[in-house]
Amino acid sequence: RYQSRILVTGEDEVSQLAASINHMSKEIQFYQKQRNEFLADIGHELRTPLTYLKGYSEIVLQTQLSKEEQKEYIGIIHEQSKRLQRLVQDLFELARMEQGDFSFRKERLSLEEVITNVLTFVESSMDEKGIALEYQSPKTKPIVEGDPQRLEQLFINILENARRYTPRNGIIEVRYGGDVDHITVQIRDSGPGIPKDELPFIMERLYRVEKSRSLETGGTGLGLAICKKIVEMHKGEIWVESIEGKGTTFFVRLPLINWV
Ligand code: ADP
Repeated sequence: RYQSRILVTGEDEVSQLAASINHMSKEIQFYQKQRNEFLADIGHELRTPLTYLKGYSEIVLQTQLSKEEQKEYIGIIHEQSKRLQRLVQDLFELARMEQGDFSFRKERLSLEEVITNVLTFVESSMDEKGIALEYQSPKTKPIVEGDPQRLEQLFINILENARRYTPRNGIIEVRYGGDVDHITVQIRDSGPGIPKDELPFIMERLYRVEKSRSLETGGTGLGLAICKKIVEMHKGEIWVESIEGKGTTFFVRLPLINWV
C-alpha cells in the first residue's frame, strides 16, 4: 500500500515534490469521496421508480383487477418508466458534457428566436396549469454566438422548473436586460422560492430542495447541472435569486455580439 501522506521536512526539491504528492493525494481522496457519494445518490434515484415498477407490475400480474384498475396501475408503470428513461438520458448527457465529449455548434444566432421557440414549446403546458406567461420582446434583437439547440434546452429546463414548482394560476415572466457586451435573460416565477441556505447547492447534480423532493414533481435533479454546463460552454454565467414564499428568478448572462 502506498502511503497517502509523506512527511515533509525541508524546502529542497525532494521536499517540494513530496508536498505536491501530498496535495495530489488529498485531491484524489476528495474526488473518490465525491464519486462514491454520486454513485450512492444515483442508486437512490433509481430505486424509487424501480420500486414502483416492480410493485405495480406484481399487482397487475397477481391480482384480479377491473379494467379501470388495470389501466390505472399500468398508467403508473408507464409514468415511472418515463421517469427512469429521463434520468438515464440526463445522466448520459451530463457525463458526456463533463468529459467534453459532445458536439457543440458555434454560430451567430438571434437569442430572441431561441426564446420565442422555447416559449412556443412550453406554452400549452403552462396553459394547462393556468400559468400566465409574460414576455417582453426587445425592440432590437440580441445576437450571440452559440449552439441554438443547446440554448433551447437551457431555457426549456429553466422554464420547465418554473412551471413545475409554481402553483396553479401563477405567473412566469421572461425579460431581457443587458449592457454593451452582455445580454442577460431573466426568468422569474411566482413559485414557493428556494430557502437561502439551499440556494448555493441547487445547481449540483441530483440536489433537490427537500420540500420539492417530497412533492414528487417528476424531475430528475439533473436539469440545472446540465444548464450550468451549457452556460459554461457559452462562456456565460447562470445564477439565481429567490425569496421564500415570493418566487425565484434565474439569470442567464451571455456574451453579446451585437444588437440588430
Ligand atoms: P429537478 O429535476 O428536481 O427539477 P433541477 O436540477 O432542475 O432538478 O433543480 C434542482 C432543484 O432546485 C429542484 O429539485 C428544486 O428543488 C429547485 N428548483 C429549481 N427551480 C426552481 C424554481 N423555479 N422554484 C423553486 N425551486 C426550484
